[in-house]
Amino acid sequence: MYVRSQRNRILDPYNPLLPMHFRYERAPDVSELLFTIVDKLGFTHVPKNRVYCYRSYGSKASNTIARVHSLPKIWQQALSEPAYYAVEVLAEQYDGLPTDEKEKTLIHELLHIPRAFGGGFRHHRDWVTQRRVEELHRTFRRS
Ligand SMILES: [Zn+2]
Repeated sequence: MYVRSQRNRILDPYNPLLPMHFRYERAPDVSELLFTIVDKLGFTHVPKNRVYCYRSYGSKASNTIARVHSLPKIWQQALSEPAYYAVEVLAEQYDGLPTDEKEKTLIHELLHIPRAFGGGFRHHRDWVTQRRVEELHRTFRRS
């Protein structure tokens, strides 16, 4: 989950008093950018046919820009399916970001997906860090 720090928090135009129903839609623009990042950073552990990108509208999580979901192990077994991941961007937070920040947001979400691609997550702690995101973003920009 990519939570915007207070420091660079931008006032967003979403008015929580207006009734807005939560919904998801497929986000081909996000998929395209995410797959470009996967290719350029050589994230070969991320099979592109098993990552779906969605845009959500009307989330009440006003300080979240994006989050990653998975098909958990129990459902993989129950459904005889391999692992899948979905990257969700929150339209109200993500859409107005400059390109650099969109790229960093998606790099951040990709870092949550473990090498094993097994349905679990890597936590922020010492892996999904601002420093790592910035480093990878510089590599992405150079390639
Ligand atoms: Zn995160």
